[in-house]
Amino acid sequence: MKTSIRACLSCGSRNLDFTPGNGMVANTYFGIGPVAGIAICKDCGMRGGPIEFEKEEDYEAFLEHLKTLKREQRKKEGYKKR
Ligand SMILES: [Zn+2]
Repeated sequence: MKTSIRACLSCGSRNLDFTPGNGMVANTYFGIGPVAGIAICKDCGMRGGPIEFEKEEDYEAFLEHLKTLKREQRKKEGYKKR
C-alpha cells in the first residue's frame, strides 16, 4: 500500500486545499513529482506545488529542516528571545 503525504513547501503544514490544475511539477530539494492541481496552504497562504513524501519519516525530516532554517533566520535578524 502506498501512502503519500503532501505538505506546504514554506511552513510544512498538511492543511492544504487543492485546486484543479494543469499538471505542474513540484521541484524541490527533497523530490520532484508531477502535481495535479495547485495547493493552497490554509496556514500560511502559500500557493503552488506542494512537497510530496512517500514516508512519514521523510516528512518529519523536512519539518526538522524547516525548524532549523527558521532558527537560523531568527539569529540573523537578531532575535534574542529564548
Ligand atoms: Zn504553509
